[in-house]
Amino acid sequence: MIKSVLSILSDLVRINSVNSSYEGGPGEGEVARYVKSFFEEHGIEVEEQIVFPGRNNVIAHLPGCDPNRRLVLEAHMDTVSVKGMTISPFEPTVADGKMYGRGSCDTKAGLAAMMHALAEIKASGVVPPCEVVLAAVVDEEFSFRGVVKLCNGLEADAGIVAEPTEMRVVVASKGTLRWRIVVRGKAAHSAKPHLGINAVSHMARIVLALEKDHADLAAHGHPLLGPATCNVGVIRGGVQVNFVPDECAIEIDRRMLPGETAAGVLAHYQSILDALHTLHADLDVSMESPMLVDEALETEQDASIVVAASRVLMDLGFDGSPAGVPFCSDASKLSRAGIPTIIFGPGSIDQAHAAVEWVPISEVEQAAEFYRRVILSFE
Ligand SMILES: [Zn+2]
Repeated sequence: MIKSVLSILSDLVRINSVNSSYEGGPGEGEVARYVKSFFEEHGIEVEEQIVFPGRNNVIAHLPGCDPNRRLVLEAHMDTVSVKGMTISPFEPTVADGKMYGRGSCDTKAGLAAMMHALAEIKASGVVPPCEVVLAAVVDEEFSFRGVVKLCNGLEADAGIVAEPTEMRVVVASKGTLRWRIVVRGKAAHSAKPHLGINAVSHMARIVLALEKDHADLAAHGHPLLGPATCNVGVIRGGVQVNFVPDECAIEIDRRMLPGETAAGVLAHYQSILDALHTLHADLDVSMESPMLVDEALETEQDASIVVAASRVLMDLGFDGSPAGVPFCSDASKLSRAGIPTIIFGPGSIDQAHAAVEWVPISEVEQAAEFYRRVILSFE
């Protein structure tokens, strides 16, 4: 007997799998044990892959007619923290056609739907055209180490990553680049400011120059993603009011489009700083190496996984046209490993990480059917 997709989802939500990099988070251990025994109970071969001590990816294999072709289904097992939640995070509640709880949307719904699809195909005795690998991975919500480990040596012909996409086939997502710019000035008594170099004043020039540059970004949009964006999110400088500040730093979050590289983007910002330096000889500014680099995802719209997924979605009565999302996921890492990858899952990113997290139950059930049909039709 296969449990309903809804009861698999309830079981998953009931298990606290807050990423252990967040305060009080136990990590994925208990969910990993649940996923592993689910596949064992259904006679599906399953193995574990150690990512960190006590934090393993769980990888199930379903043989296909063609052992040389492989489809990877991937979903993360961790969640963000429960801080600020206004519902019980680990008591899965059903009301108004929705399932509530931490991870119900991001991304235990997609994981439950993928697990159900595999179990159903196994029970039916039908052998899918290609080998199917279902990877339930750790650490998507912090540093993506689970998928990086998975991709190490992985060969596959297509990938589907579960994230809430409101039942759209997502072929493009923005990348993220985060780094710091630091200005060094010269300290002096505030009664004699001409003896110092004010790092805060210099940084103000830089922030305004960036703002001007960001307006230009809006002029060039990607058809599915819109324009790249940039946000100066943090500024720190100065020690106390009667000192000339000798240091000021900003932190920048730049969302990248397909085709942009971190090196190319950083070179552009360096040229802005160089231009300011020619106007202000005493400007001492440097860019630190990035804190985060995640390049964008763009899968060809005529890739066979996109064609297969769009057809299945249309058969189920949904919009099958390819879409884009602004958020990062594991998909860009599979794509960089040479695997044409789409993102697909029930629910909306607006409810992910939210104080009240929920997913529409009907979408979870339809997503299971979507994954099942794609597995059976992808050749
Ligand atoms: Zn997610």
